[in-house]
Formats: sequence, structure tokens, C-alpha cells
Amino acid sequence: MTQPLIQTAAPLPLLRVRQLCKTFGGVHAVEGVCFDLQAGEMLALIGPNGAGKSTTFNLLNGQLKADSGDVLMETGTSLLGLKPRQIQRLGVGRTFQITRTFGSLTVLENVQTACLAQAQQPLQWGMRPLSRTQVAAQTLLEKVGLGAFAHLPSQTLSYGDQKRLELAMVLAGNPRLLLMDEPTAGMALEERLALMTMAKELAQERRMGVLFTEHNLEVVFGFADRVAVMAAGRLIALDSPATVQANPQVQSLYLTPTLKTTTTTTSTTTPTTAFASLTSGASKPKSELV
Ligand code: ADP
Ligand code: MG
Repeated sequence: MTQPLIQTAAPLPLLRVRQLCKTFGGVHAVEGVCFDLQAGEMLALIGPNGAGKSTTFNLLNGQLKADSGDVLMETGTSLLGLKPRQIQRLGVGRTFQITRTFGSLTVLENVQTACLAQAQQPLQWGMRPLSRTQVAAQTLLEKVGLGAFAHLPSQTLSYGDQKRLELAMVLAGNPRLLLMDEPTAGMALEERLALMTMAKELAQERRMGVLFTEHNLEVVFGFADRVAVMAAGRLIALDSPATVQANPQVQSLYLTPTLKTTTTTTSTTTPTTAFASLTSGASKPKSELV
């Protein structure tokens, strides 16, 4: 007897970016960019300065209006033309390169403010919603490792801890998708690794998709499930870290002129080994990556 054919539809990606375009005057900042992002996935967006990464981020979160293309959530809802606040309400959270917290409030109050904003409650200290948000906020602080600092003024936190606080505030919005713009900029390596480890754990626990820009290639290849590479507005590679690392077009973007010369004049240094040494911090990229 033949078994009935049971077809289960594959889940739609959390985010689908299709033929996204944005020009500034004559500059094609983003040109025909397409990618999917799965729930629970860490996707790194890298590329030299001016490649179009920030513009892509700004198109996704509504800070910029796309000329054409589409950005679809898994529900099929298009984010195009929506305001940043509406996009945030659809489950897209964003951290900023410059941390945005209220320095005079305590660490806990900062997160409570974010919880109240999410619940669309006015900020009324001493009222009942506050005690509810206090518990929620403390839980989020424990999650990011700041539980013990809850009652300190947030301006007294170290730079790395401010970034954790910002992450807790974004998590208050229960994002399905987290956009992290240079999350570890200005951090010591130890703090960078701790923050990215946390982001990866959160992505897995909450099945949250994370799109991040990062200029440190060790962090990129250490934490990304896949790596997307942009150059001059176009996506030139999108694959596993190992495959992207082995891509000659990507290698050429990151090789210094000196290394390129070395590569052509000696038979011992191949682009692959030069790129590999770059990722381990042994040499410098020819331009900043983010
Ligand atoms: P990246 O983040 O990869 O460094 P950007 O997205 O910031 O790159 O920039 C991509 C291109 O678009 C660059 O040529 C940049 O000069 C240009 N650009 C970005 N934002 C603006 C803007 N607001 N007005 C004009 N040109 C812009
Ligand atoms: Mg940028």
C-alpha cells in the first residue's frame, strides 16, 4: 500500500530582501540587493567603506525610503514605506553605533522605559504598570548580565555595559529580527566576544534573526552563520563563513596593495593564505570594513 504523501510547507524566511535599490544623486548606494534571513540565524553584512551596508540597514528599519525592491517579513507584510516606529512594532529591533540610553536614569529605569514604550504605556512613575515592568526589566537585565547593576545610574556603566544595556532595551520590544549596527565598536576584544556570544545565545533561544555589521573579521567569521559581502552597492557574495573566506573576489577586496604585490611576486603567498592571515589579525585590510 502506498503511503499518503504528506507535504509540510517549509517555513518562510524571517526576512526576505528583494532587489532593494537606493540612489543618492548619481550614487547607487544599494543596487539590486537580495537576501533571506532565517529565524535563529546570525547573518553578517560586511564590505569596505561606502559599500552600502548602513544604507541597507537604514532601508530595513525605515530610516530611509527605498527607490524600488521589497522587504518582506515572514508574515508577508512588506516593510517598505513604513515608518521606523511601525517597523519596530512589527518585530524589528535595532541597536545603534552610538549607544542611546538615558544617562540620568538608573539601569533598571532605562529598561523599564523601553518596556513601557513597548506596552504603549505613558511613563508614570509610581503607578501600577511600573511594578509589572520592574519585574520584566530586571529579568532582561539578568539576561544581559547586568542584574547586579540595576540601581546604578546608567551613566556610571562602562562602555561595554552600556552596550549590554542598550541590548536589554531593544529586547524589551521582543524583536523577531535584531539589526545590530557595529555592535562591538569601541569595545575591547574580551567585551566584543562576550556581547557577540550573548547575541548568538539570544538568537538561538528566541529564534531571533540577527543581521549585524562588524569590522573585526575574527568576530565576523567566529559568530556568523552566513556572511553577506557588499561592494559598491551590490551583494557580491552570500554564503557560509568558510566559502566566503575562500571567495577570490572577496579576498581581493580585503587584500592590502602590499599583500597583492607579494602575491604576484612570490609563489609562497596565495590570496587564500593572505586572507586567512588577515582574519587572524596578522595584517590590515586595505580599507576599513564598516
Ligand atoms: P557603508 O555603510 O558600507 O560604509 P553607506 O551605506 O554609508 O556605506 O554608503 C554607501 C554610499 O552611499 C556611499 O557612497 C555614501 O557616500 C553614499 N551615501 C550614504 N548615505 C548618503 C546620504 N545620506 N547622502 C548622500 N550619499 C550617501
Ligand atoms: Mg556604514
